[in-house]
Amino acid sequence: MKDICSLTSRQNQTQTTIQEKQRELTRPQHSRQSRFMGWGKLITSTLFLQLLLMAGPSWGQEKEEKYSYSQLLNDINAGKVTLVEIDPRLQTAQVTLKGQEEPREVPLLQQNPELINSLKANNVQIDYNPSPDNSAMVRLMLQLPIVLFILFIVIAIIRRSASMSGQAMNFSKSRARFQMEAKTGISFGDVAGIDEAKEELEEVVTFLKEPEKFTAIGAKIPKGVLLIGPPGTGKTLLAKAVAGEAGVPFFSISGSEFVEMFVGVGASRVRDLFKKAKENAPCLIFIDEIDAVGRQRGVGYGGGNDEREQTLNQLLTEMDGFEGNTGIIVIAATNRPDVLDRALMRPGRFDRQVMVDYPDMKGRQGILEVHSRDKKVDEEVSLEAIARRTPGFTGADLSNLLNEAAIFTARRRKEAITMAEINDAIDRVVAGMEGTPLVDSKSKRLIAYHEIGHALVGTMMAGHDPVEKVTLIPRGQAKGLTWFTPDEDAGLITRNQLLARIAGLLGGRAAEEVIFGEDEVTTGAGNDIEKVTSLARQMVTRFGMSELGLLALEEDNQENYAAFDEIATQIDSQINLIVEKCHEKAQNIIRENRAMVDRLVEILIDKETIEGDEFRQLLEEFKEPVDSGIELCKSV
Ligand code: ADP
Ligand code: ZN
Ligand code: MG
Repeated sequence: MKDICSLTSRQNQTQTTIQEKQRELTRPQHSRQSRFMGWGKLITSTLFLQLLLMAGPSWGQEKEEKYSYSQLLNDINAGKVTLVEIDPRLQTAQVTLKGQEEPREVPLLQQNPELINSLKANNVQIDYNPSPDNSAMVRLMLQLPIVLFILFIVIAIIRRSASMSGQAMNFSKSRARFQMEAKTGISFGDVAGIDEAKEELEEVVTFLKEPEKFTAIGAKIPKGVLLIGPPGTGKTLLAKAVAGEAGVPFFSISGSEFVEMFVGVGASRVRDLFKKAKENAPCLIFIDEIDAVGRQRGVGYGGGNDEREQTLNQLLTEMDGFEGNTGIIVIAATNRPDVLDRALMRPGRFDRQVMVDYPDMKGRQGILEVHSRDKKVDEEVSLEAIARRTPGFTGADLSNLLNEAAIFTARRRKEAITMAEINDAIDRVVAGMEGTPLVDSKSKRLIAYHEIGHALVGTMMAGHDPVEKVTLIPRGQAKGLTWFTPDEDAGLITRNQLLARIAGLLGGRAAEEVIFGEDEVTTGAGNDIEKVTSLARQMVTRFGMSELGLLALEEDNQENYAAFDEIATQIDSQINLIVEKCHEKAQNIIRENRAMVDRLVEILIDKETIEGDEFRQLLEEFKEPVDSGIELCKSV
């Protein structure tokens, strides 16, 4: 019963996905070499099978009526035999008896001295008549379906084991795991919303296109640019655009692909990459997720990771090893600049750092324009309105949003994307798939109270974002949701706004407590509490909004670690203080408006969704009869 209480918290969400995305390593590809390994095995195993089969009993040789070797000897000695044709290959003899047309077949022994002797003694005619050797063919034809079947199974097994142990099978020193695109086909026109980063990189295009301009007057061309920003903001896209604009090949590799389980592989990959790049200069090398190799050396568990350090050292060596005018520029991307080894940023390496941040409203509008170019969008759709509704969305989110909207449109058999599809797509991108509503039950009632609690407390607190809608239709993991329209790109947030947000987040649990009692509260508030804690902690440790004063007390500030230890309990008690105050406030709002809460819950259970305007109108209507009245709370 998680719920997502405000769109503005999206920024937080995205930040947690950073690490998830980071972990999402690209699946190892099967190289040609490993395929060959597979086929090699395959061929030997099928040959082996063939041999087994061939050595086995052969099928399909009809036996005529039995005529034995000893019978033959008797018949020869009795003078009944006129002709014996021996087939040494099949080890049979065709025996023609006196007065009979049809010869009869007799199986022979390996060596038949007595037969030859008695044949000679009885003057029987002997012919050697080897049969043509087509039996192997026949056998093969008969066995073919079985061989194919076994082959099929063997392939299936090899495929499976190859994909399971992909890493181990792919291991090979000489193989490089980078991609090369001769033409990226991407231009600066495809990148929007990150104008400053774009401007900085426009210069890099000139470095690649006309290096003489700079070298002529003795300027050294920078070798490395580090793009810093959260996932999905367009770092890869930007690097491709630089290569596209300069018309040079684009070499790319991900930092996580450098690092393998065998020491030395990463370093040799770096060597390969730079060797290939030099052959293709001028060109651009893009190293994604450079933090995977570029972490500070000599720190971490067990005194660091040999393999990673070797790779990093190799990378530094390569970057130092070529002059700026060789026409190679390295662009690296990361979302964790804090963990990078300082050596990477020295002059002559990644000395230029470019921030690629979340786009602002105008930026989002620009990105939406780029991605709606190839889609049919209804005229009534205002990209500006979408941009306004989507703070915290990255370029990737926005492109995904339009794609989801296009899918909805196609499914509804409409001509062009309308605002209805856009709205549904936003809900989907933010909160996940829509589920089926619960049937009326105690738990549905509890969820309704929880959501109305959020909506009401949120509305009553001055400085809180307005309710956009309250719904009992489940989405993703949430069983019910209250959405708030985020403030227009809230840059700076006041203390009161933060407190209002915390109270609003606690409104759900507060309603559960007031209506059902402390013992009946549910796990549904888990997600709310997580956000509350994080907000309150930031107020204390980052924003200087507590009695501890204006100190930056962030946990990851390692140098202050000892001091931090002493102060940790104080931080915790300050966080508690904030949360408790807001909790009380939220409970009071619910208690004072109990009658209204009950009515709103009835309506919500009946209608399943209440839109923001409707919600506010209902509050107005209830104002008269409900005697506690509505007073906007000024602050906590
Ligand atoms: P990153 O490398 O920063 O994680 P990507 O460059 O891979 O992000 O972005 C993924 C996709 O999202 C791009 O291919 C593009 O379609 C879209 N996108 C991201 N940022 C932008 C932007 N600034 N302008 C246009 N499209 C963008
Ligand atoms: Zn909640
Ligand atoms: Mg990327």
